Amino acid sequence: MKRIRSQIQIGRLSLLGCLILTSGLSGQEVQADIGVVPAMYQRYGDDFRRYDEHVSFLANPFLEGRLPGSPGMVITERYVEENFAAAGLQPAFDGSFRQSVPLGGQRKVEGGSIQVGAWNGERQEQFDVNLLGGQGSVQGPLVFAGFGVDKGPDGYSNFLGDRDLQGRIAVVYRFEPMNESGTSRWTEDGRWSRQASYRSKLMTAASKGAKAIILVNPPGVSDPRAGEIPVTRSNRKRVDVPVFGMTTEALDALLKANANPWTSEKLLAKADKGGPPFPLGLNAELEAKIEQEQRSCDNIGGLLPGQGELAKELVVIGAHIDHLGLGVYGSRGFRGELHPGADDNASGTAALILLAERIVPWMAALEPGQQARSVLFLGLNAEEAGLDGARHYVNHPIRSLEDHSLMINFDMIGRVVDGKLQILGSQSGEGLMEWMKALDAETPLHLNVHTRLHLGSDHLPFLSKRVPAVFAIIDPLHRDYHTPGDVASKINRLDSIHVIDLFEKVIQGAATRPKGFEFKSPY
Ligand SMILES: [Zn+2]
Repeated sequence: MKRIRSQIQIGRLSLLGCLILTSGLSGQEVQADIGVVPAMYQRYGDDFRRYDEHVSFLANPFLEGRLPGSPGMVITERYVEENFAAAGLQPAFDGSFRQSVPLGGQRKVEGGSIQVGAWNGERQEQFDVNLLGGQGSVQGPLVFAGFGVDKGPDGYSNFLGDRDLQGRIAVVYRFEPMNESGTSRWTEDGRWSRQASYRSKLMTAASKGAKAIILVNPPGVSDPRAGEIPVTRSNRKRVDVPVFGMTTEALDALLKANANPWTSEKLLAKADKGGPPFPLGLNAELEAKIEQEQRSCDNIGGLLPGQGELAKELVVIGAHIDHLGLGVYGSRGFRGELHPGADDNASGTAALILLAERIVPWMAALEPGQQARSVLFLGLNAEEAGLDGARHYVNHPIRSLEDHSLMINFDMIGRVVDGKLQILGSQSGEGLMEWMKALDAETPLHLNVHTRLHLGSDHLPFLSKRVPAVFAIIDPLHRDYHTPGDVASKINRLDSIHVIDLFEKVIQGAATRPKGFEFKSPY
């Protein structure tokens, strides 16, 4: 790294404070050795420094990829909130900068019981609740439904009609009819067929009216899983009725404790032959307790009130503040690794903050008679999870959606190459596209204003509610997109400032033009 000698004004750079402390220098002006980054700060000014600081902070590995609901996101939300407040924006949501966005939570077993006459099962030893089912308390007669197969090969079936299990609790063997070696009778390679899947059995039994389902390991199976209670850690609920898993030994203990003539072996012989369900002559009381974890994250919104009549209308400028965390979803092949998301979308979030800082004093300096729309700055959450934050906002907007004059979305503006920036969606407003095209002459960037809407992000929920929207994104996408390689060092800070300069004009123009953009379908 090349080091250069330079003069710096005290107070211009916070970094300088450290230099003074460590070098013992004092005075109005100092001579100091500074590195390349401070030299860039000095050369390109405060915007460059502040943009760099925001991107570097948000993409820092400490924030672990800004996954909604994670500790890194808690810090991210706070960071955006504090920067909005410092810029002079007002809390947008009833006195708060935050709008809570519910996220789908994990389900987990809280408890459960199986009681059959004198027998009371021990959870986690003899049986457990299976998360593929729902929760609740159920009472009813136990019926044995073989392997729970409706239409197997060679006419094999465990059912006669559609309501065979109506009002009953189905006891269903796991796997499928076996040969003497304990492997499937229906395949050649020793694997189980699709009929043996939990999904197939549960959906079949539920469709035939079962009010609960107990999956039991049959005896004599050649599969290591037969030694475990048949439950799953999956969070994907397949049926609404409660589902339990039970060991072979527990089934035998249950039958014996009730002096029932059946055994697991005798039931297996019946199941292997097929034939309709039959009652075991026992009543059961079951309970499955499943807890649904409630998780949420926050959209961060800061409002800048406009002036005059137009102030009731809004120009929205949004950027998503979340990313992929450790690649739990959305990663392009790097599950489990840290995805810092510098371009996606620390770059847009940083632009959002800088624009707030520019637009607030601009609005304050308008002539008193000048009409201007209010401007809503929105740090949207959970975009990567499926545009959750933007969807939530358009369903709970701070003003009627007809008063949303324009939405501007930044998602990945940090890796501009050869000055190229794509603009999408501008065909959604009458006169919007012509205006965006004309702006090309006023920026060092080269605007590629599309008539197609081929890239999705937070503008889509706004468009679906008939709010005109424009979307700015680099052109083309890079290979680091949704990988651990999307790091802060690769951000093109200078061109990002050019994007901010351009959209400063766009926001000012959109806020003050007498007439809004009439919505047109962009598809
Ligand atoms: Zn993304």
